[in-house]
Amino acid sequence: MSRFLSKRFDGLEEYVPGEQPRDMKYVKLNTNESPYPPSPLVLKRVNSDEVKKLNLYPDPDCKSLRDKLAEFYGVLPENVFISNGSDEILSFSFMAFCDGEKKIAFPDISYGFYKVYGDLYGLDCTVIPLKDDFSIDVDEYCGINKNVVIANPNAPTGMSVSLDDVEKILRSNPDNIVIIDEAYVDFGGTSCIPLIKKYDNLLVVRTYSKSRSMAGARLGFSIASKEITADLNKIKYSTNPYNINRLTLIAGEAALDENHYYEDAANKIIKTRTRLSNALINAGFTVLPSDANFIFVRCPDMDGETLYLELKKRGVLVRHFKTERIKDYLRISIGTDEQIDILLEKIFEITGRKA
Ligand code: PMP
Repeated sequence: MSRFLSKRFDGLEEYVPGEQPRDMKYVKLNTNESPYPPSPLVLKRVNSDEVKKLNLYPDPDCKSLRDKLAEFYGVLPENVFISNGSDEILSFSFMAFCDGEKKIAFPDISYGFYKVYGDLYGLDCTVIPLKDDFSIDVDEYCGINKNVVIANPNAPTGMSVSLDDVEKILRSNPDNIVIIDEAYVDFGGTSCIPLIKKYDNLLVVRTYSKSRSMAGARLGFSIASKEITADLNKIKYSTNPYNINRLTLIAGEAALDENHYYEDAANKIIKTRTRLSNALINAGFTVLPSDANFIFVRCPDMDGETLYLELKKRGVLVRHFKTERIKDYLRISIGTDEQIDILLEKIFEITGRKA
């Protein structure tokens, strides 16, 4: 135990990011990054004269990018909040909207950071089990009278909740914030951004890390009512006003100018996902229906940890969670077709199964 760390963090279990090993070159399918590089205009703008301005602080208001995102999504700039990765918005939201009285509810199997933020801010979180088929038990959130955070599509299952169900949750919790984390929505889900016009308690969280190939740039944003957006700004200006660096800001704008590139990349990923899912289903694996850039799979006769370790030995990294309910599953990010061919070859070699 540290001599210096505040006692309130005794027992805090920090988030463990997916491995980023440097020991050898892996086929890296463990952190849901895009296998495709950023679009040409992003590369060009980042290498432009903006680099020479790194002696100057960036715009804390992120005005130019906010205007552009607002236009892109058909909302007002006052509805848009920009952050250093979407993790930062999640952190700010837990800090801003939850406390001893205002609790927060989320599924037992979901993005691991929700629990970590809950613990970090000393919150009493309500953890609601997914149903046996790993779908979200929507009725459990209706009228719960707590803040809610749901990843839609959910991670690591990849399964979505319908907009009708999101509306049910919003309508039945009018005095609580409902955070819909749409990190993976561009791979087949339906965004609930248009619902912000109808529900002032909706906070939609988005990221450039997945479908916009910019995990390394750290850029996220949210779309919500002016009131919620102003609340997030209060927290940002009380912690780190210059949270987005200059290069990331211009990269974020450039990506919107080339949206077709990212739509094409998402379509490629969806096609590869279908091919991989079919191959594994044909080989007898359980594969959950995914709307995300990953699939969640279980081998019928090999435990998750063994398969994960055997793949790692052969140079393929996927994600394994030790959580009891999902310990026999692996989350596999969708890579290029070449990467998925290697993965399939190794999986079939290890398990003796074939498509
Ligand atoms: N939400 C979900 C559901 C995620 O899986 C991730 C990625 N780990 C994030 C948010 C955070 O992504 P980022 O901070 O890179 O935007």
